[in-house]
Amino acid sequence: MIPVRGLTGARVAVLGLGRSGLSAARALAAGGAQPICWDDNPDARAVAEAEGFACTDLKKQNAFDDIARLIVSPGIPHLYPTPNQVVAAALAAGVPVDNDIGLFFQSFATPESSALDTPPRVIAVTGSNGKSTTSALLHHIMEVAGRPSQLAGNIGRGVLDLDTPHDGEIIVLELSSYQTDLARALTPDVAVFTNLSPDHLDRHAGMGGYFAAKRRLFSEGGPDRAVIGVDEAEGRYLANQLSEGCGDDRVIRVSVEAKLNGPGWQVFARKGFLSETRKGRQVASIDLREVPGLPGAHNHQNACAAYAAARAVGVAPKVIEGAFRTFAGLPHRSQLIAEADGVRYVNDSKATNMDSAAKALAAFQNVRWICGGLQKEGGLGGLAEAAAGSVRKAYVIGREAAQFAMQLDVEAQVCGTMKAAVEAAMADAEPGDVVLLAPAAASFDQYDSFERRGEDFVAEVTSRL
Ligand code: ADP
Repeated sequence: MIPVRGLTGARVAVLGLGRSGLSAARALAAGGAQPICWDDNPDARAVAEAEGFACTDLKKQNAFDDIARLIVSPGIPHLYPTPNQVVAAALAAGVPVDNDIGLFFQSFATPESSALDTPPRVIAVTGSNGKSTTSALLHHIMEVAGRPSQLAGNIGRGVLDLDTPHDGEIIVLELSSYQTDLARALTPDVAVFTNLSPDHLDRHAGMGGYFAAKRRLFSEGGPDRAVIGVDEAEGRYLANQLSEGCGDDRVIRVSVEAKLNGPGWQVFARKGFLSETRKGRQVASIDLREVPGLPGAHNHQNACAAYAAARAVGVAPKVIEGAFRTFAGLPHRSQLIAEADGVRYVNDSKATNMDSAAKALAAFQNVRWICGGLQKEGGLGGLAEAAAGSVRKAYVIGREAAQFAMQLDVEAQVCGTMKAAVEAAMADAEPGDVVLLAPAAASFDQYDSFERRGEDFVAEVTSRL
């Protein structure tokens, strides 16, 4: 655990008692603060109370008298579409609002860790898609390189649950826009921006707010190195703002769409080959085409981002190449789950938005596409090109399956359930086809989470093989 520093003796309100809220309460208590907890759900309160934390209704009048800070869980809106009632009360009372990420950065560097031979460093990864894959890959690279490393944030453990870092340790954090939006301290040594496409727009009042939330990772503390995906205008703008010119190698530019040949530091992938160039010279090249855990151009983007961040902390290209080959991939992200009679079955349940589904479709050919669910803002128009290039037929699930199917430009069968969709896709599949779950929608109309949806797909497929 990382005990929270700087709030000893203070009363700190904690709103939301899920994983991050409870871990914040523990870390606050360990640092000598007094957590005052609340969650509207009585079951969550019971868990906190069983651990000995005091719960007080933060909605009651004057609840913020004598409170030094409010710590908010990522699922709770702090500004848009409207601030949660408790957050609004804290804002009105002038109480600083923060989250576990802010507490982590405030508490991470201690006099003891600064005295180590190589003080621990933090690499933080944000972006619309590819954060988990890039973070897990980076962590894997560090392990292969023999560097002590821990992975936390939006993936794995909560940031305050990390163990006290070792000499030379590399902490890899995956950070969502909700997390970067609210954290009062954000001081990674290396910060990574994978890409940007519309998502969570209601929580950020549109694209501008969404980009601004992610950008805070680069503007609050100023990382020593920034790894920036420059395939969208926002990435190019961010890279531009962070550097003194195109030769400034504090920014490592990453692309999977263009051959980058500026005088600075860059990593790009073209036709399945990753290249690192610096000061106009090629430093290294890696063939990604046969790397099993990283299929498709979207994963090549993640490989480039992880490669660049690992290079920024001094890992050699050959070591990174070896780590790519042994990376198993993450469940529910372009995950090959079975191959039978020449048909491959791929679980990409994490493709909850349009861009990630388009990328998954583009990574395969002859796709029998299982899609549908709770549709996000922005329609499905952006999928047309990717679908036209690779989809043989769509099998649509979800409560609004018929309406979803109508928006697709490919032949579509309304199936409703995963069972019906898998049955139909398997009946139609021919050797060389890929049965791909890439929903382009959230799962909450039929499942608790994208993980449950992916598990259901896997179960339906494997029970029929
Ligand atoms: P995140 O943590 O940002 O949600 P993940 O690595 O979990 O990212 O991947 C989420 C979804 O996006 C998966 O469907 C995955 O196949 C797809 N994806 C992964 N990397 C990228 C990328 N670089 N660009 C677009 N889509 C991606």
